[in-house]
Amino acid sequence: MPISTVKVFSEVRRKYSSLVVVLVKKWGIEVSEEWAERELIFYVNGEWVPESQATISVLDQGLLYGFGVFEGIRIYGGGIFKLNEHIDRLYRSAQSAQINIPLTKADLAEICREFVVRNNMKEGHLRIIVTPGKGYTWDTFGSPTTAVFGIPIGRMFESGHEGIRLKTSSLRRTPPECLDPRMKTLNYFNNKLHKMEALAAGVDDAIVLDMRGFVSELSGANFFITKDKTLLTSRKQFILEGVTRATVFELAKKEGFQVIEEDLTLYDVYTADEAFTCGSGYEITPVVEVDGRKIGDGKPGPITSKLQKLYVELTHTEGPWFTKAL
Ligand code: PMP
Repeated sequence: MPISTVKVFSEVRRKYSSLVVVLVKKWGIEVSEEWAERELIFYVNGEWVPESQATISVLDQGLLYGFGVFEGIRIYGGGIFKLNEHIDRLYRSAQSAQINIPLTKADLAEICREFVVRNNMKEGHLRIIVTPGKGYTWDTFGSPTTAVFGIPIGRMFESGHEGIRLKTSSLRRTPPECLDPRMKTLNYFNNKLHKMEALAAGVDDAIVLDMRGFVSELSGANFFITKDKTLLTSRKQFILEGVTRATVFELAKKEGFQVIEEDLTLYDVYTADEAFTCGSGYEITPVVEVDGRKIGDGKPGPITSKLQKLYVELTHTEGPWFTKAL
């Protein structure tokens, strides 16, 4: 930055210091200066440590083989959104992979709550990871690795969003015969390749087909279309059964919309009235274009906008869906 720009910038900052929020890049996102300077406190194997000391061995099976399970959860207004549902899914993934989680569900929930309190994090994203621990070879296991950590991120969209564009990935979703998509494992190699292909093509994300050629989901979120006021989404056996997807079912039913889980083809998508994606990260986001074809009139549709509004309201309202921390 030229010196003069720096000078003007610092003068503006001084004058409007209470109004200007300077954003700094950290953890791959933009955060306020305050967060950038603070060291967060993470939980690793029974200890609370500063982020710089929160380390896991290079011998960890999670690193060596992608062998482990995890969850990604949102923190809104100092409450953890649908924490019990995420913890239940973590235990199901672990049970299926024969990974022992060395804590009760209640203890794990308490650690998540403590994470929020220790970091005074009102808006953020929380991760839980569990692996079978150290072991250089396939069959050696130490004691399990458990970590709870996260970063401050704001609500993605306060209200409407103009919508995202997708392209069909050239690769397919890992089928249940190889790695059941309902397990949320640390092995996101397949998912990353879908996302990278989409970004390289200049769109926001990929629509991924299963091995039978039906639509499964996006690289890291579930997918819905609407047709004649009915919501349609892929069958659970071929996708990660999202916590947000289940929330969409509840919101849609409350509004009197029918939801059908069935095999969908790209033709169904191209000719849909509306499309949207959902996940803890994406929340509910309209999809306005797939493979260069406009969905509907190429703008977020009324059902999507309604559900999106209800979701924003839900994540702004206290209720049993929140585990209060702050
Ligand atoms: N599918 C995949 C592959 C994902 O990674 C995610 C994000 N966890 C989702 C769907 C959405 O799941 P959830 O609503 O539980 O965040």
